[in-house]
Amino acid sequence: MGRTPCYLYDGSIIHRKCQEVLAMPNAFGIEPRYAMKANSNATILREIVKHGFGIDASSLNEARRARLAGIDPPKIMLTTQEVPVGSDRVALEELMRLGMKYNVCSVRQLELVADFAVANGTRLCIRVHPGVGSGESASRNTGDHYSCFGVHLSDLPQALEFAKTKGIIFDAVHVHIGSGGDPAKWRENIDRELGFVREYFPDAERVSFGGGLKEARMPDEVAADLKELGNYAKQRIQEFYEETGRKLIMEVEPGTYIVANSGYIITEIIDLKRTGPEGFEFLVLNGGMELNTRPLLYGSRHPLYVVAQNGELLSAEGELGHLHPEDDLRVVVGRCCESGDSQSLDSDGNIIPRLLAEPAFGDFVVIGGAGAYCASMSPHNYNSHIQVAEVLMGEDGNLHLIRKPQTLEQIVQNEILLDSTKAYQEKPFGERSLRDQASAY
Ligand SMILES: *Cc1c(COP(=O)(O)O)cnc(C)c1O
Repeated sequence: MGRTPCYLYDGSIIHRKCQEVLAMPNAFGIEPRYAMKANSNATILREIVKHGFGIDASSLNEARRARLAGIDPPKIMLTTQEVPVGSDRVALEELMRLGMKYNVCSVRQLELVADFAVANGTRLCIRVHPGVGSGESASRNTGDHYSCFGVHLSDLPQALEFAKTKGIIFDAVHVHIGSGGDPAKWRENIDRELGFVREYFPDAERVSFGGGLKEARMPDEVAADLKELGNYAKQRIQEFYEETGRKLIMEVEPGTYIVANSGYIITEIIDLKRTGPEGFEFLVLNGGMELNTRPLLYGSRHPLYVVAQNGELLSAEGELGHLHPEDDLRVVVGRCCESGDSQSLDSDGNIIPRLLAEPAFGDFVVIGGAGAYCASMSPHNYNSHIQVAEVLMGEDGNLHLIRKPQTLEQIVQNEILLDSTKAYQEKPFGERSLRDQASAY
């Protein structure tokens, strides 16, 4: 098995980030949930839950996956665009019976779950669409009128009227305005959300401000100040108490903030090419968009490091003073047949050369800020590349394999041949079986 590419996570960073969130100032308690779509590896989930976090699942399958990782249903909340019908509805009700919290995200979802909730005395959470959002890009803003997450404020009175006739109680209210947006907008949402909790939700005991806490991946980016946001929320929730006599527990749902900077993608330089006097010097890596699609999807920037085969750090993001724009602007690309397969693109998909030390074949390029929405969100099997290994460096500094690399056989195992010539399936490479061939990778 090749050792690279792989994902490497630093457990001590995850630990520190969990502590930071738990230490957010609050009035009557804080209960964080980890948004597991950021990184869904079972070991990562268990590490985070060990710190006292719950789980926010974005689909029934995520909830099932959290259970497979050994997480108890009462620790899980389901916040989904899915409308569970048929066997999914049975699964939803089973999970709710076991204590999973359901965060109703549409009028249709509410109508479908109403009878079950009333019959079982189950209280619900509701996701409200506040009409105002903020994200790092338009595609990560979940609160404006171009996105449809949650019950829009304009539909709320009608939804609440229906809930009242049924006898449904909402004990929690939720808003998630987007990912990595402006912390000032996150703060404004606190006021807006507490406003409609006061107006519409007399039974709410908890208020969730969602995820989206901004993390800084690049040296020039600024992360959200959790102390400041916590202090603001604390003050507002305290005022809410003074006005209403109700002590609200605050929930937050970070994904990015917990894992983004814990993750690295370790790649090896397999080729060096040029595109003429007007062109660029290219570093071809043995992994790219199939491991981290964020640059291609959003124009996201990730720190890049060049490491020699002997382990010497040749250049590090944020410490590039020894490099010169005339000599050291280089382009990193992956090996997919896709000209957008680069880790450095602007939001229109144009390649952005970066300052990188001069490398040799076999040196490594490490892509930082790769713990969130990389392993969990990439087109792994494009160009028939395999889903690569995930490794966790424990707080003791030891390395643990937490996901094996996929085999080529696993990529094709569910395909069905029309003329099932067994010989093809078993010996596509002559004498060696597909399994041998894949594991020789
Ligand atoms: C994606 C998501 C989050 C996490 O967002 P981050 O930007 O990764 O913190 C939280 N809550 C909900 C409902 C989400 O969909």
